[in-house]
Amino acid sequence: MRTYTLEEIKRDSPAVESSGEQIAFVSVGCVWWTTYREDMGSKQIEIDPVPFPCCPHCGALIMETPLKEFLEAAEKSSTHYGPYGLRAFVAAHHRGGLRGNNWDDITIQIMAGVPLGRRYG
Ligand SMILES: [Zn+2]
Repeated sequence: MRTYTLEEIKRDSPAVESSGEQIAFVSVGCVWWTTYREDMGSKQIEIDPVPFPCCPHCGALIMETPLKEFLEAAEKSSTHYGPYGLRAFVAAHHRGGLRGNNWDDITIQIMAGVPLGRRYG
């Protein structure tokens, strides 16, 4: 299994048809994020009376933000993601293969040699 990269995220993530803009979907409850709408799955949270998609890891709400700005902010503050920096950030992408409640969870998995790559679901 090979490691998912930031370049792949930038190059392959789909753009919204109306705006041509790539979107990051970011859990407000953990470090899970994705750039693919379908990765959110079918789990929903109801905020009376409207159902919203929710994080497949922790069930929290998902916020949508332009990918370009999201990645620029991440690259500027890579130490935020722990000693592995952007490697941890990419690993927490849905297709990066790791799940965690916080960046320490991701760091521990990388240190333990948990394989990174495309594990879906
Ligand atoms: Zn979550």
